[in-house]
Amino acid sequence: MPNELALLIEHSDAAGRAVVQEAAVTAGLMWKCRARSCPTTYNRIGEPLCRGCGRDRKGRFLPDLQPGLYAVPDELWEQLRTEVVQHFAGEQGTPTPDAVTFLWECESRTEPWSFTEVVLHYGGRQEKYQTAFAGTEIAELLKEIALAVEPNYLDNLRIGLPR
Ligand SMILES: [Zn+2]
Repeated sequence: MPNELALLIEHSDAAGRAVVQEAAVTAGLMWKCRARSCPTTYNRIGEPLCRGCGRDRKGRFLPDLQPGLYAVPDELWEQLRTEVVQHFAGEQGTPTPDAVTFLWECESRTEPWSFTEVVLHYGGRQEKYQTAFAGTEIAELLKEIALAVEPNYLDNLRIGLPR
């Protein structure tokens, strides 16, 4: 968003702000969140997900993203989702994210996933996350998934968590 637009919004009263934001949508500088319950109505055009609720421009939540050439067996995928949910349920100080992205890092079959570049998604906001996933059930499941789907270098795996 150009700074001038941010300034204009900041210095407008409520009525003026609505006019400016609608004009920005028309001009293609902002987009409007479709969720009625969302606290954030307008987002910058460069933001793929709403800052308030994490939905995209079509009103969808962050979808699962499977890596590789083949579909991950459903059972394996749901098992991973369950384990990730449980991990965050037991984690102090880290709220359960809306989704988690794991990055496929190398050709090594022993530890192919990067655990130093795990990304947590909270709505449209992303946070880096470092934890000891190595040696856990989650790491085992990721390894099984890698064997099943053969990800490409730097393929992402994103798993959405129920809310
Ligand atoms: Zn929203």
